Parts: sequence; C-alpha cells; structure tokens
Amino acid sequence: MNDRRQFLLNDKSVGAGASVVYWMSRDQRVWDNHALMAATMFAKENEKVINVVFCIDSFYPNANLRSFDFLIRGLQEVSETLAKLQIPFRLLYGHPPDTLPICLKELGCATLFSDFDPLRVKQQWKVALNKVIECPHYEVDAHNIVPCRLASPKEEFGAYTIRPKINRLLPEFLDDLPPLEWQQSLFTSVSVQHAESTSKLNATEILERMNLDRSVGVLDLESGEKAAHKALSDFTEHRLGMYNELRNDPEKECQSNLSPYLHYGQLSAQRVALEVQKADVASENKAAFLEELIVRRELSDNYCFYNPHYDKIVGAAAWAQKTLNEHVLDEREYLYSLPQFEQSKTHDRLWNAAQKQLLLEGKIHGYMRMYWAKKILEWTTSTAQALEFAIFLNDKYALDGRDPNGYVGCQWAICGVHDRAWGDRPVFGKIRFMNANGCKRKFDVEAYISKFELSKLLF
Ligand code: FAD
Repeated sequence: MNDRRQFLLNDKSVGAGASVVYWMSRDQRVWDNHALMAATMFAKENEKVINVVFCIDSFYPNANLRSFDFLIRGLQEVSETLAKLQIPFRLLYGHPPDTLPICLKELGCATLFSDFDPLRVKQQWKVALNKVIECPHYEVDAHNIVPCRLASPKEEFGAYTIRPKINRLLPEFLDDLPPLEWQQSLFTSVSVQHAESTSKLNATEILERMNLDRSVGVLDLESGEKAAHKALSDFTEHRLGMYNELRNDPEKECQSNLSPYLHYGQLSAQRVALEVQKADVASENKAAFLEELIVRRELSDNYCFYNPHYDKIVGAAAWAQKTLNEHVLDEREYLYSLPQFEQSKTHDRLWNAAQKQLLLEGKIHGYMRMYWAKKILEWTTSTAQALEFAIFLNDKYALDGRDPNGYVGCQWAICGVHDRAWGDRPVFGKIRFMNANGCKRKFDVEAYISKFELSKLLF
C-alpha cells in the first residue's frame, strides 16, 4: 500500500500497549479499506494485535432513524466479516472524544489509525481526541482515490483547476487494489482468538436501544458491502453503457445509485473506478462517469476540507456573494416556509414531485436535485435562508446526505460555488438559472411528476 495515503496527526511516540486500533468512521467496510490494511500491516510489523472500533453518536447533526438504520445494518455485516477473520470489533456509544480514549486505554492501544473525513464534526473530534491520547495517530485517506491532502494543498476554484492535479497523481493512486485473498491473509495473520469482542452486532436491537430522531422512516434498500458490490455490478452491466447520453434524464434512471454506498464507505471509490475501467462499454460513458466519481467527488472533499464555511454563504466566492447581496431585496414571486417546502406544498408540481421523491426514496435524481435547490433560492427571503433550508432538507432526508457532495451541491446551486458568473437576472443575480421549461426540453416532466404526485405522505 502507498504510504503517502497516510498522515501522522500528532507527535506521540509508539506506546507500550499490545494493540493497534483502527477507529472506523467514514469507511465502513472491511475489504478494499486502505485504513484497515495500513493498521493491520503496522500491527504485523510491530507484533501487535489489531482491534477495530466504531463510535456511534446518536446526536450526529441531522442523522435520524433513516440514516442510522442504513449505517447500522452495514456495520452488522462489518462485524460478521470481522468475526470470521477473528478480528475484535467494538461498538461504542457517545461522543467519540469522550468514549474513545477510555476504550483505547482498555485495549492497550500503542498506535491509533483512523480514516479521513473533511467535515467539521469529524475534524473537531480528531482535534479533541489528539489532545488526550498518548499514542501516535495516523489518518489514512481510504475514501478518495487521490488523497485529499495530496491532490491539492489549498481550496481549488473548480473542476478545471483540480482536474490536472488529480490526473497527474492518478497513475500513482489508481493502482490495482490488493487481491481479496491477499487482504484476507493479511487480516488473519494478525488476528487473535477473542470470542467475546468478535461477537456480531444485532442491528435491530441496537436501533431499538438508541435514543434518536425516529420521525424519518427507514428505506427498503439493502445495506452493506455485499449489497454495494451487487449495486456496482448491476450498474456496470446494465446502465453504464447509457450513462453519457442519459444520465440527466430522471425518467431513464441511468445513474449508478451508488452514492449511499459511497457515502457510508461501504464501497471503495477506487474499486468502482477499476470496475468501470474494465467494463465493456464505449469510452465516453466511462469518461463521463469517472469525471463525476473522481474529479467532482474529490473536488467536494477539497472544498469542505479547506473552506471552514462550506455550509454558509461566506464560503462562496466574492463575485457570488456580491451579486447575491445586490439582489437580496428583489421581489420574490413566491415565498415558502421550511414546513411548506418540507411537506411539498409549493405551487410547482415538478418541485413538489422532487421533494416527494426525497421524502419517499431518500434521494432526488441528480438533474432534479439542481432544479430543486435553485428553486429554494428563488422562493425564500434570502440566500442564507435558502442555503440553510436546502442543506437541512438534504441532510435530513437524503440517504447520501451529510456528505461533502451535498454541501457542495447546495452551494453550487445556490451560491455558484465552482461555477462561473452568468447573465444578471432578478433574485439569482449572476448565479446560473434553471427553470421548468429547461426540464421539459430534457425529459418527460409529466411522467416524472405522475410517479410521485399521488404518493401518500405522512404529512
Ligand atoms: P452517479 O451519477 O452515478 O455518479 C457516481 C458518483 O459520482 C456519485 O455517487 C457521487 O459520489 C459522484 N458524483 C456524481 N455527481 C456528483 C456531483 N455533482 N458532485 C460530486 N460528486 C458527484 N451527492 C451526494 O453524494 N450526497 C449528497 O447529499 C448530494 N446532495 C446534492 C445536493 C444538490 C442540491 C446537488 C445539486 C447535488 C448533490 N449531490 C450529492 C451530487 C449528485 O447529485 C449525487 O452525487 C448523485 O446524484 C448521486 O447519485 P448516483 O450515485 O446515482 O450518481
């Protein structure tokens, strides 16, 4: 494994304890997980045992029954796989900087490994944790193909500036992942018989016990590594061949639907890229998909990592803030409150259909997601309110929400992040505009509406 994926976050020397701990957080998988592989190799070289720990914080912002149900069902599979490999796995409840140090002490942790996450909450957890732990803490970027810290040392202006940097590093980082047999023999070479802590999780029991927001219902979508790989094969076999032409048509449903699996780290983006490269489809489909999976996705991590205001209007470029401020007093034809948006009660049947898709399916088709957010800008009293509403709804209902892609998606649509200035117009200023007529030219809007119009909602 390439050592350059790994960053030392503190200056402590290796402790005397008997174990290496991998604190799993963003990358919730056993296979193709660079952080677990790095921790295990380190344990082997230093004759330590390996332990895996996951901390569940039921107060994680905007997480609820829908998101925890998917997360914990995925973790159940992680625990089962680790049990077969005889690697101890512990689930901790509470705020990680409080719970983790106690657990690390109990386990005799000589060195800690974690995975990379650019979001504020996770960064703050690590800062607080590093103040109290007494061992080295390595962070391994197991989420990005090109590690975020190496792709660029600063916030990039857009896809056009990060693309050449990523492309330069891809030959080094988009290498073949170690074969599964190799990964298995690595894990078993350091595992120990530890019946008590290798016990498997019971997702139902855990969810019943947790104190969490149960107002957002669970989704009927298989979770976990096996389901993620099934979804990947389904996409490469049946839809990748049409991706370039039809990905923006919500009626054709040619997107991969991999975002929940990527968000929860149940699938490695590198594995996805390698499978897509191997697929027997025209090259323009592969190129269009890899642009989204690699350049756009890694640009989102770059933005959230380097911009502390990634979910606020002050995180936008100066030109965008200026133009939006100039139009702040423009008259809005329609104004809606958060509950009206949430309950799909606008005058616009197309917007309501997208919101219903979000409530019912935990997602909105990628093209409609842009329209959905831009209309929130048009129908709220200020840009700050629009951004707040869009992020709140996306994070609360989208299974792939609470993700750098979500903050950047909302920022792109509302505050022009990573976009350029367009012609000046009311409310939007120079932010790119979208309207229903544009949608009508792209796809069968009535068919999309009719799918969701009559669906019964809880409201
Ligand atoms: P595919 O088209 O099959 O793409 C494959 C993967 O590439 C995606 O899973 C994703 O990881 C990445 N990708 C695709 N489009 C983008 C993009 N525009 N920016 C960054 N990465 C991309 N994506 C999320 O993962 N979580 C979110 O919460 C989220 N919220 C969004 C909100 C708004 C307002 C907008 C405009 C976009 C948002 N996106 C979000 C980005 C994009 O819409 C989704 O990634 C995509 O629709 C997910 O479906 P898919 O996996 O089938 O995508």
